[in-house]
Amino acid sequence: MDFFPVFFSLKGRPCLVVGGGSVAARKISLLEKAGAEITVVSPDVCDEVQRKLDHGEIHFESRHFEESDLDNVLLVIAATNDRSVNEKISRSAQARNIPVNVVDNPDLCSFVVPSILDRSPVMVAVSTGGASPVLARQLRSRLEAIIPAAYGRLAAMVESFREQVKQRFDNKARRHFWEEVLSGPVAEMVLSGHDKEARERLQEMVDTADSSAPLGEVYLVGAGPGDPDLLTFKALRLMQQADMIIYDRLVSHAILNMARRDAELVYVGKAKDNHSLPQDQINQLLVDLAKQGKRVCRLKGGDPFIFGRGGEEIDQLAQAGVNFQVVPGITAASGCASYSGIPLTHRDYAQSVIFITGHLKDGTLNINWQPLVQENQTIVFYMGLTAINEIRTQLIKHGMDKDMPAALIEQGTTRNQHVHRGTISTLPDIVNESDVRAPTLIIIGKVVELRDKLDWYEPAKHTQNTEFSKHKN
Ligand code: SAH
Repeated sequence: MDFFPVFFSLKGRPCLVVGGGSVAARKISLLEKAGAEITVVSPDVCDEVQRKLDHGEIHFESRHFEESDLDNVLLVIAATNDRSVNEKISRSAQARNIPVNVVDNPDLCSFVVPSILDRSPVMVAVSTGGASPVLARQLRSRLEAIIPAAYGRLAAMVESFREQVKQRFDNKARRHFWEEVLSGPVAEMVLSGHDKEARERLQEMVDTADSSAPLGEVYLVGAGPGDPDLLTFKALRLMQQADMIIYDRLVSHAILNMARRDAELVYVGKAKDNHSLPQDQINQLLVDLAKQGKRVCRLKGGDPFIFGRGGEEIDQLAQAGVNFQVVPGITAASGCASYSGIPLTHRDYAQSVIFITGHLKDGTLNINWQPLVQENQTIVFYMGLTAINEIRTQLIKHGMDKDMPAALIEQGTTRNQHVHRGTISTLPDIVNESDVRAPTLIIIGKVVELRDKLDWYEPAKHTQNTEFSKHKN
């Protein structure tokens, strides 16, 4: 973070603008909106600034900048077209710890002026840290489209009820109350211009709401295979309203960053054979937290019901009478297939696909191999790295062509995705030679050849920085 975002109160506080051109005029307008007490210093001014001087309550000095202009100033904006003057202002201001902005010159700034979406009292500020003001403006336009002007009125209405609500509810109940108000009919009414009805409805809600702490619940949420863009809207919404996020190894940092800012994050494992919290204790933890009234998001890689032990977790929740919801996620097979150019089914190559776990139980693989080896069928192994030798031997023994195309997809859908292409015979060597680590998915079948026919652009390379730590399976 190069710049720390804050919102300054400038009401009645002395601010200095050096310069009198159209750039200065824009900054003066902004400072006027914030109610600052403005002084402009410039030997000459353009018409626009002159109009402001004529109409506004602006103090004006018709001369060059002097060191003493900085006395008692809360912040300064340098908007002259003379670089050496701008540099001097920047140096002097910084020597006195006065925040300084030199327009279009990030090197000389101790603060940058963001692109602003003003829905007072709601304020959205976008900054690229000076890297690209145009990009910041474009982002602001997009936000403009999704944050209607009525949000300002909504915020003002909420503010006028704040004290009442504070008296009536304790901390946690209060947050739940406001979440319900802001995502329910009251907000809709304001957004559609029915402010009076919204106010009445909100008053009714305050008067009749149950002010006791709400019951907790658990959201069992699939976080997808890695790329945060593969989260569902529902997953994101629940992550943002949960008090706690209980996550495991397959959930990337980029995804965790999207949780509610003050949510508590708890890591519960697990790398294979290194369960940081045994499954039964995870189950119990979810029950306990919900009973304390917490809204708990149990975040799992991929889909919670595909090799995710989601079934065991909800079983215990149901027995304990805890409310829960399950949110599906994109499973590793879908994610890895799409991001590596391997369609899992294809009219000419595979009419069926099997998802199977290669996880060893007590050191052995307990698999019925014969049904796996079928014409025109794709096999996807989850957790298959440790047993790769056994998988290869058994498939060939049960009749699979030893040159059957196969692929290992390591850290699929993340920026570190690596696709290792081979055949069923060569997989174990690839694992050893390329030091392939978990999470890795194995896809076996003729569909793997299709990747070679496509000029694949590897979408994973364009995803956000999604880190998984490397583990030996
Ligand atoms: N519930 C998860 C699977 C959990 S089992 C899902 O639906 O995807 C863990 C296994 O999933 C890993 O050993 C690996 O085989 C596979 N896996 C999960 N995420 C992966 C990824 N990003 N890339 C490759 N394989 C992945």
